[in-house]
Amino acid sequence: MKNTRFKPQDAAELYGVPYWSSGYFRVNDEGKLEVDLPGGLSIVLEEVIEELVARGKSMPIILRFPQVLAERVKSLSEAFRKAIKEYDYQGKYQGVFPIKVNQRRVVVETIAKAGYSYHTGLEAGSKAELALCLAQNIHPEALLCCNGFKDDGFVSLALWGRKLGKNVVITLEKMSELDRVLRLSKELNVKPAVGVRFKLNAKGSGQWEESGGDNAKFGLNAAELLHVVERLREEDMLDALSMIHCHIGSQITDIRRIKVAVREATNVYANLVKAGVPVKYLNVGGGLGVDYDGSKTTFYASMNYTMAEYAADVVYTIQEVCQRMEVQEPIIVSESGRALTAHHSVLVIPVLDVTGPTVDQPFIPDRKEDQHQIVTDLEQLSENITVRNAREVYNDAVADKETMNNLFNLGYLSLHDRARGEALFNGIIRKIAKAVQDMKYVPDELEDLPRVLADKYVCNFSLFQSLPDNWAIDTLFPIIPIHRLDERPTREATLVDITCDSDGKIDKFIDLRDVKRTLPLHVPDGKPYYLGIFLAGAYQDVLGSGHNLFGKVNEAHVVADKEEGYRIELFVRGQKARRMIENMGYEEDDLRDSIEAQIETARKKGHFTQSEAKELGTTYTEELLGYTYLE
Ligand SMILES: *Cc1c(COP(=O)(O)O)cnc(C)c1O
Repeated sequence: MKNTRFKPQDAAELYGVPYWSSGYFRVNDEGKLEVDLPGGLSIVLEEVIEELVARGKSMPIILRFPQVLAERVKSLSEAFRKAIKEYDYQGKYQGVFPIKVNQRRVVVETIAKAGYSYHTGLEAGSKAELALCLAQNIHPEALLCCNGFKDDGFVSLALWGRKLGKNVVITLEKMSELDRVLRLSKELNVKPAVGVRFKLNAKGSGQWEESGGDNAKFGLNAAELLHVVERLREEDMLDALSMIHCHIGSQITDIRRIKVAVREATNVYANLVKAGVPVKYLNVGGGLGVDYDGSKTTFYASMNYTMAEYAADVVYTIQEVCQRMEVQEPIIVSESGRALTAHHSVLVIPVLDVTGPTVDQPFIPDRKEDQHQIVTDLEQLSENITVRNAREVYNDAVADKETMNNLFNLGYLSLHDRARGEALFNGIIRKIAKAVQDMKYVPDELEDLPRVLADKYVCNFSLFQSLPDNWAIDTLFPIIPIHRLDERPTREATLVDITCDSDGKIDKFIDLRDVKRTLPLHVPDGKPYYLGIFLAGAYQDVLGSGHNLFGKVNEAHVVADKEEGYRIELFVRGQKARRMIENMGYEEDDLRDSIEAQIETARKKGHFTQSEAKELGTTYTEELLGYTYLE
C-alpha cells in the first residue's frame, strides 16, 4: 500500500475537504485548492497568491470571496422559502445579520446587497454598530434590530431610525429599558417598535450552553414580560410590542435543542397573541452552526443538522404550536451570523521555517573514557529496539532520563555526559516512534509519541490577531496546504506563530472521529509553501488583538468572472507598525525626535558617521511605515 501513488483525492480525504467545505472548496486534479462559486466559476487559490506576491504584497493575507458570502445569504433565505412552501406556512421569513460577527465593510455591504430582495436586515448590539447599520442600504421592510444594553443615546438613535423610514425594532434586554423607550419616544414623538428578549428555560448545546437558561445575561422572564404588556396596555401602546426574541447561544450542535427552544418561544408568542397583543415577528436568534470538522455530530466543532433541516425544523415547530394554539403564524426572523460569514474568507499563511526532531541534525557528543554508567545504559538501550520490546525500552529510557536529571542536579553528572545522554534518549524516542508506526495495537504510553516528535512549522502570522478563538476557546478551523496536494505529506507537524507568546501555537486539528494532535504536512522544498486556514470568517476579524503589536493583516477581495477567471477587486492594506504603536498612546513625532536625539549624541561621541546616521534614520522610518509581519 505504501508505494501507491498519492492522488489529489487522497489529500481531499486526508484533510476532510469534502466534509467541511460545504461545496465551496475542492482539491483540483493538479493538487491545488480551488474555490467553487455559483455559475460554475472557480478560483485556484495559489494563482491569486502568486499574483499578489508578484505585485509586491506581503503575507499573511486574508482572501475574501464576496460571492461566497452572497451565496450564504441566498442559501439561508432560500432554505426558509422552501420550508415555508413545503409546509404551506402562512407567514414569511426575514433574516437579520448580527453585525458583531463581522463588521468589516465588505462583509456588511455584501450581505445587505445580496439580501436586499430577501428583506435581510441587520442587528446592532451597540451605538457604534447602530450608527453603522443606519447608513446601510437595506430594504424598507428589512428589520434593524437593536439588541444589547442601552442608554438614552442608543434609544434616541434607534427612534430616529424609524423616522428615517427604517424598520427599527428595539429589543428590551432588561425591564428598565421600557421606561427609557417610552419616555424618549414621547419626547421625540416617534412611535416605537419594541421586541422582548425572552429568557427561555431551554438551553443551547455545545460551548455556549450557558447563554440560555435562567441564569442568562440577557432577557426578561415570564413575570417581567407580563409587566411590559401591562405597562404598554396602560399607555394604550400594545401594538408597539412587535417582536418576541430569543437566543440560546452560538454554534448549537444539537438540532433537538433548537426545536425545544423554538417550541418554548412560540408558546410565549401564542400566549401573547391570545391575550390580544398583536406580535408580528418571532425571532429565533442565532446559533445556526458551522461544521468545522465535517463530522456531522454534536461535537462542539460540528453540528448534527444541515441548514435546510434547520429551516424546516424552525418552520415546522412554529407552525405546529400556532395551529394547536389557533393563532396566526408569525413572520419568522433568525439572526444567523456565524453560518453566514464563516465560509467567505481564507487566511493564507506562509511557512517560514521548520524545526523539530525530524529536521534538526542530531548532534551526539563523543563518548568519553570515564562516561557515567547511566549514559552507558542509554547507549545499550538505543542499540536494540524492536516492535516487540519498544514499550519496555521506552519505560526504561524514561526512567534513565529522570535519574540522569537527578544526578546532574546533585553534581554527579558532567554537562558533557548530560548532553550525550539526552542525545541518546532523543534517538531512542525517534526509533520507538518509527516502531510505533508498524504496531497493530499501540500501548497507552506510546500513543502520545507522534505529537512529542512532531515538527514545528513556524508560520508568518499571529494566532492572537487572526485566530483568537483557537487560542481562547479551542475553536478548531480546517487547515490545509493550498498546493502540493498531489504529493503525500510525510511529516507530522504542529504550527507556531511569530509572536513571543508560547501560547501562539496550533496543536489541535480537525478530524472526523477525534481531535488530531498533529497535522500532516510536506517537507519544504525551497519554494514558498502556503497553508490556508478556512471557515474563519465569523468573529475572528473582530476579536483579534494586537499582541506583540502584530496588526490587522492585508486583505484581498477576490471575485470570479467568466472573462478574466478572477479579479482582485480591492486590496486593503494591513495595519502599519506606526498605527499599532500609536494605538498604545505614542506619537510618531515623539518617537522620531527621540531617535534623532540619540543619533546626534552617538554621532558626537564618534559612534556614528554622518551617512550611518542617515541610514539608521531611513531604516527606522521604513519600519514605522512597514507591515508588522515578517517580510
Ligand atoms: C451573537 C448573537 C447572534 C449571532 O449568533 P450566531 O451563532 O453567530 O449566529 C445572534 N443573536 C444575538 C442576540 C447574538 O448576541
